[in-house]
This record gives sequence, structure tokens and C-alpha cells, in this order.
Amino acid sequence: MILDNHNRPINYLRLAVTDRCNLRCFYCMPEEGIQFSPKQELLSFEEILRICTMMAQMGVNKIRITGGEPFLRKGLIDLLRDIKAIDGIDSIAITTNGTILHKYLEDIIDLGINQINLSIDSVDPQRFFQITKRDVFDQVWSCYQTLLESPVHLKLNAVVMQGHNIEDIIPMVALTETEDVSVRFIEEMPFNGVGKQAPLIWDYKKILVHIKSEFPKLEKRADPPGSTSLNYRIEAYKGTFGIIPAYTRSFCGSCNRIRLTPKGIIKTCLYDEGVFSLRDLLRAGASNDELSQAILQACSHRAKDGFEAESSRKGKLKIAESMATIGG
Ligand code: SAM
Ligand code: SF4
Repeated sequence: MILDNHNRPINYLRLAVTDRCNLRCFYCMPEEGIQFSPKQELLSFEEILRICTMMAQMGVNKIRITGGEPFLRKGLIDLLRDIKAIDGIDSIAITTNGTILHKYLEDIIDLGINQINLSIDSVDPQRFFQITKRDVFDQVWSCYQTLLESPVHLKLNAVVMQGHNIEDIIPMVALTETEDVSVRFIEEMPFNGVGKQAPLIWDYKKILVHIKSEFPKLEKRADPPGSTSLNYRIEAYKGTFGIIPAYTRSFCGSCNRIRLTPKGIIKTCLYDEGVFSLRDLLRAGASNDELSQAILQACSHRAKDGFEAESSRKGKLKIAESMATIGG
């Protein structure tokens, strides 16, 4: 078991398998895209599997596959199958924009992967287009409908943004009346690839007040250990909703996650600038023992929260990277 210097156990790896994406959600990357990494700079599947196996031996038992859009990585299903077979990995989850998932859903279900977070920031096709810059609402909505009928445990992710999708908050909570879905509203963070963000208006408190004004009968649900969302249910509704204070960063005290970027950089906090390149170490011929020591060393110097991590940036002081290069 990895314990960091603040006594937080780390058992959850967020693994970004690509930085490429077929959407251009403006809060994540500019319309012209970002400088996508050449293939040889990405971790190969062999490298990913070696790292995952090693991390499982160190106590990591949950892996979330993200990106970029993970389904754009060729051969993803083969990778998932191999990760699934690693001793000690109990849970694999995927975060996706749902545009091409339909091609792979059967394989995903056959593999027994049953946790998918589908990002959908608006239930209105026009607003969806304004946010993502791509005319794919129908595909994503149809993916949502298909997932509802599948055995997958489904969460919807929506970033809340003034002037873009405030009208969607109440209709999205309303989806939980009849569907067993968990809708999560995320505070916008500055990882938009351009380094500019207006001051945050819709923090978690404002989102909650807004929801309460329409649905006064809210039940607070227990927040599982390591959960980043504050979870609620509307009385008698089937599903739940949560609010993720991703910018306010009030959940760092129980953070159990470590991140591996598509290029193999280890991040011990979303807000740090990357602690070291596991890929470079691995490609220089390091043994598993040396790799795991490097990970333990990074975890023993972990920032206590996202504010400390942000202020310890040395190279890129200002956050300007795209979430697609980190894995959200
Ligand atoms: N492409 C996939 C998707 O959109 O679900 C996976 C990668 S995406 C980077 C993962 C999550 O990060 C998405 O739910 C997305 O909404 C969220 N995200 C991206 N940029 C963000 C930002 N600047 N602030 C808050 N959340 C962000
Ligand atoms: Fe692509 Fe996901 Fe970023 Fe949107 S949030 S641009 S879908 S990586």
C-alpha cells in the first residue's frame, strides 16, 4: 500500500491513454486543437501494462482510463483486456465523451467493465454544439440512452459554466427522477490549453443553492472514501447527483489518486506541473524496483492540497495546459 507524506493511502490510478480528441470543448482545449504528441512520445501498451502491473503490486486496485478521448487510442480494447487480467486490479472505469463508444460497448460489457462516466455538458443540442464545437449531440445522447439500458453503472459529467449551460443544471438533475444515473456537476478549472479563465462564478455552493431553489427536498448522501463529489438525492428520485469542487479543492484531505499522463509523466496532484517522467526512467532501462522507488519517493513529497501543488510549480507557473494532456 502506498501511503503519502500526509498519511493518505493511494490506490487509484488515473491513466490517460491519449491526448487526442475529436471534440473541442472550449474549457479543455482551443478550437484549433493543441499540439498533439507524436506517437513515439506516448507510452506504448507494453509500457502501460508494465507500469499498471507494478502499481497493482504497490496497492493500486482501481484504474480509470481517460484522455483525450480514450476510444481514439487504437487497440484500446486489447489494452483493457490486458489491464483487466492484472492481479490486484479490482475495478476499471472509463471517462469518455461518448461519440464513438457505441462501436466498443459490447466488448466493454463482455470484459465486465461496468463503470462509465459520460461527459455531457448540455441536454440542448445547440448549447452542446457551442461548448464542444462539434455537431455530435445526437450520437452522444443516443450513447446515453444505450448506456441506461446496459448493465453499466453510469455517471454523467457536466462542467458548469456561466453563460453556457446554467439552463441545463435543473433539467440534468431532473434526469435522476426516473433513471438510475448519477449526474455530477464539476466546477470549471483553468486547464483549457490557453491559460486564461474568468474568475469562477459557479462554485459548488452556488450550484447547490441553485438546485435547492428548484428541489428543496434534498437528501445528503454519504460520500464514499476518496470521493471527490458531494452527493445528494432528491427525495423519492431513482438516481443521484453530485457536485465536484474541482476548483475550490475542498476534497484534497482524502485524495487517493495518482495520475499518469499519455507521455508517462507522474502527477501526484492534478494541479502540479508533473513530478517526473516515469517513461524516461523506464526507457533508460530502470528496473521495476527502481521505478517503484521513484513512485514512492514522489508520493512521499506530495503536496497537501491542490493549492500547495499549484504554488509549487517551477517551470510552468501559470496553469495553461489542456486537460486532455493530463487526463481529467
Ligand atoms: N474526453 C473524455 C471526456 O470528455 O469525458 C475524457 C477526458 S476529459 C479531459 C475528462 C473530464 O474532464 C471530462 O468530464 C471533462 O468535462 C473534464 N474537464 C476537462 N476540462 C476541464 C476543465 N477545464 N474544468 C473542469 N473539468 C474539465
Ligand atoms: Fe475532448 Fe474530453 Fe477535452 Fe472535451 S473534455 S475536448 S471531449 S478531452
